[in-house]
Amino acid sequence: MRGALSGPRVLLRRLREVMAEPISAQGRLDKIVQTIAANMVAEVCSLYVLRADGVLELFATEGLNREAVHKASLKLGQGLVGMIAAEASVLNLPDAQEHPAFSYIPGTDEEAYHSFLGVPILRAGRTLGVLVVQNRARKSYSDEEEEALQTTGMIIAEIIASGQVSGLASAQQTVLDLARPMHLEGSALSDGVGLGHVVLHEPRVVVTNFIAEDPDKEVQRLNSAIANLRLSIDDMIERGEVAHHGEHRDVLEAYRMFAYDRGWARRMEEAILRSGLSAEAAVERVQSDTRARMQRQTDPYLLERLHDFDDLTYRLLRELMGKTGKDKALPDNAIIVARTMGAAELLDYDRTRLRGLVLEEGAATSHVAIVARALSIATVGQVPNVVSLAENGDSIIVDGESGFVHLRPPGDVEQAYVTKVRFRARRQERYRQLRFKEPVTLDGTRIALNINAGLLFDLPHFDESGADGIGLFRTELQFMIASAFPKLGQQTELYSRILDGAGGRPVTFRTLDIGGDKVLPYLTRSVQEENPAMGWRALRLGLDRPVILRTQVRAILKAAAGREAKIMFPMVSTVDEYRRAREMVHRELAFLAKHNYTPPSQLKLGAMIEVPSLLFEIDELMGEVDFVSVGSNDLFQFMLAVDRGNAKVSSRFDPLSAPFMRALRVIASKSAEYGKPATLCGELAGTPLSAMALMAIGFRSISMAATSIGPVKDMIRSVNLGELRAVIEPALAGREGLPLRKLLQDFAEANDIPLN
Ligand code: PEP
Ligand code: MG
Repeated sequence: MRGALSGPRVLLRRLREVMAEPISAQGRLDKIVQTIAANMVAEVCSLYVLRADGVLELFATEGLNREAVHKASLKLGQGLVGMIAAEASVLNLPDAQEHPAFSYIPGTDEEAYHSFLGVPILRAGRTLGVLVVQNRARKSYSDEEEEALQTTGMIIAEIIASGQVSGLASAQQTVLDLARPMHLEGSALSDGVGLGHVVLHEPRVVVTNFIAEDPDKEVQRLNSAIANLRLSIDDMIERGEVAHHGEHRDVLEAYRMFAYDRGWARRMEEAILRSGLSAEAAVERVQSDTRARMQRQTDPYLLERLHDFDDLTYRLLRELMGKTGKDKALPDNAIIVARTMGAAELLDYDRTRLRGLVLEEGAATSHVAIVARALSIATVGQVPNVVSLAENGDSIIVDGESGFVHLRPPGDVEQAYVTKVRFRARRQERYRQLRFKEPVTLDGTRIALNINAGLLFDLPHFDESGADGIGLFRTELQFMIASAFPKLGQQTELYSRILDGAGGRPVTFRTLDIGGDKVLPYLTRSVQEENPAMGWRALRLGLDRPVILRTQVRAILKAAAGREAKIMFPMVSTVDEYRRAREMVHRELAFLAKHNYTPPSQLKLGAMIEVPSLLFEIDELMGEVDFVSVGSNDLFQFMLAVDRGNAKVSSRFDPLSAPFMRALRVIASKSAEYGKPATLCGELAGTPLSAMALMAIGFRSISMAATSIGPVKDMIRSVNLGELRAVIEPALAGREGLPLRKLLQDFAEANDIPLN
């Protein structure tokens, strides 16, 4: 039976010969269409290539009028060829002219042909062109012919992607060139500018050998690679590797589902046996088809699974090519490009060679973004498709200030960035010199500047920044990068090393804030939540699982032995919750005393204000706490009802507007009235303009990422607070709802206050 299927294999062999001939690019395309027409006994074979302007241009034909080459063209979606390209699907028609989408392409003389078989030319799911065969007689093309044409399309896709035909397009047009410079935009996750070369986190394997010498052997190779792949995925799930790699369990379950899908395995096997492809080429071929089909789905769940399917395909290709070992050694000036990444994986890379990070996913609050900020790695997230657009070794610039990514940048862009880097270095130098200067306003008000931290490697930044203390220590980070619940001893060790490093400067430990977007894979959730940000998280979880909270409190108290212990609770919704948490701390203190541990020299307990209800219980709260800290990220999210992780709404309203500022002012004035210090530790504290607003409404202590200390201090030292208040106070008190942001900007400009 296989003898009868030798047609496609003969075709592939012929094409291989054509590829090896030393002829011009146009000559090669001409020969390819001639070879296909002859092999498939077709009267016509035509190749259309997609240009950068979205038009399909006739690049070569056997059978149609040759005069039309590089003249005839169609828009995407226009006619049968345009439809195949737009939908990335095959059309096999006995009489093309009867199809409602048929439109005659002027100048081609194609009216004599009835039967029509057209396939998209796909690479990694992207359409690069269309390949068509036509015959005079009305007939349906066989499955085998369809296969043969699709396989040929793969080879042509490689020719197009290699850039060989880019110069052939008609005047002033360019082919959709995968190697062209690209300017991509995402969201800035970690400040800094990185210039270097792409290192794909999960490198794609480039298939160069398309043709099977011995198809039976290729099937065996495929089957054993699939078996290994299944084993490795089962193993990952069993070992709970989810935590290490930041991959959520549902992603792994999706891998498992695809890996065991018989249809997938069968389609790859058929591609080897029917078309004579190598195992690697068969895997790619089926990936392209499946990708194109799935991309037409509108169901977001399925679209999300498309990534999982791609990942799995690359894993299978690496199995086939024996490249499964992960090599974390980096070349100099490496910029990692990944779909997504766990915080721990980022830590595995050699920090000294890493210049930047680009992610297809990743929100500002994702674990990897928090760690990237702590490591000062320029990071841009939410860059669509970057993994398929970038190739290993491509030059790339990551601008973590604006959220731009320049892939294969032209020389002038690169030059502009070299200048920008120099300029930034000078600015950094200015901030370094500010390190030992006090953050005091021109009229003598001292503002306490603290950093937000969460891991040991924050300590050097703490020292370099010259901050007053750690205003927010996010204890959950240790839990997020661990594969199992950190034990009491591990927690105690981290906290005491942090206190040692702080050398007497105050450190405010926040108890675990997990739940919401901060999920611990090893802490199984009993309920699926519709609104996790408002769900079972932070202190709520701690009060319901007292062992977790008490263990952590014990670790902090033990670590603080003989020193000050400052503890605050996240997501306090009622004063009663705060009292219950405080009660737990006192029970732990009693426990330690009974077991002869040295108690802290001083204990200060506080509540985070990030749930609006506390604003209406503020007097009771101030009466009970030692201090408060405003979590402006969450407080804003809940006051304005905007999901902080949802890019569509998160920047819809301005925190620097009267309603939110008035709420914050209440906290600042109650803090002064009760003599209970207030700090603000959300992102709002980290930009000089909003930090200026916070000072104006009464905050005297703020906490931010270490890299923001320099710019904020620079601003503080140039402000006359009295004059600033005189401008802002009436705006907040009045009814006109004056645009605060504009007032602040104008004030800064008029008074030469640096804002970056
Ligand atoms: C906040 O909500 O502003 C805050 C500081 O806490 P987190 O960002 O960790 O939720
Ligand atoms: Mg918060």
